[in-house]
Amino acid sequence: THFGFTDVPLAEKQGLVDDVFHKVADRYDLMNDLMSVGMHRLWKDALISMLRPPRERPFSHLDVAGGTGDIAFRVLEAGGPQTQVTILDINGDMLRVGRERARQTYAGRLRFVQGNAEKLPLSDRAYDGYTIAFGIRNVPDIPAALREAYRVLKRGGHFLCLEFSRVDVPVLDTVYDTYSFNVIPGIGRLVTGDGEPYRYLVESIRKFPLPDTFADMIREAGFGRVSYRPLSGGIVAIHSGWKL
Ligand code: SAM
Repeated sequence: THFGFTDVPLAEKQGLVDDVFHKVADRYDLMNDLMSVGMHRLWKDALISMLRPPRERPFSHLDVAGGTGDIAFRVLEAGGPQTQVTILDINGDMLRVGRERARQTYAGRLRFVQGNAEKLPLSDRAYDGYTIAFGIRNVPDIPAALREAYRVLKRGGHFLCLEFSRVDVPVLDTVYDTYSFNVIPGIGRLVTGDGEPYRYLVESIRKFPLPDTFADMIREAGFGRVSYRPLSGGIVAIHSGWKL
């Protein structure tokens, strides 16, 4: 049955994405460390340093496709006692793992919401910050997700997106291709017993728009001062925009 991902109609894509994350939820954090050789931690730290949540003022943050909580925990660590974070994810299993990880540590400052990035069950102009890390690529209707990000942000709110991008360094590009097509599904098979979800992951990275095109899409949703910053030779990029 699965997974002829390449030409899946949009309506079915979400179901396939959900299958992937239901399968890997319990091993997700381990897989991240293995597959990125720990680099996802540095990329996530870079995202937080661009967000710079204030330490002395209230800050209300939304992390979409927040999964097991990596970004949310970092925002809470970097911010002050008045920082509050909502983790939103479409997948209850990923949220469950996030809840288990959070335990009582962030009680009262962290909230979990199950929902779709394309149609946030949240009110207008409620957040100072919005992040989405390795999530937007999975969303079937990206322009809808960007419009929703714009809607829920306050004026002056900051949008940040961390996502795989396009390696444009000679030699590194070949190494990266070999790694992602051969090694990644291999690790996936070893750890979760199934390499197929990871083949999908690699495929979806290739299909994601180039950084300039993605920046245009962010502008299209209404954001101003849009920019992006490639990291690690373009393996990932962080896009930034403001609701002016
Ligand atoms: N942000 C986390 C991180 O960086 O470790 C998790 C990233 S994980 C690769 C992608 C997440 O996106 C999964 O938890 C998945 O359930 C979620 N997701 C996929 N489609 C979504 C949608 N339409 N709305 C909200 N979340 C979605």
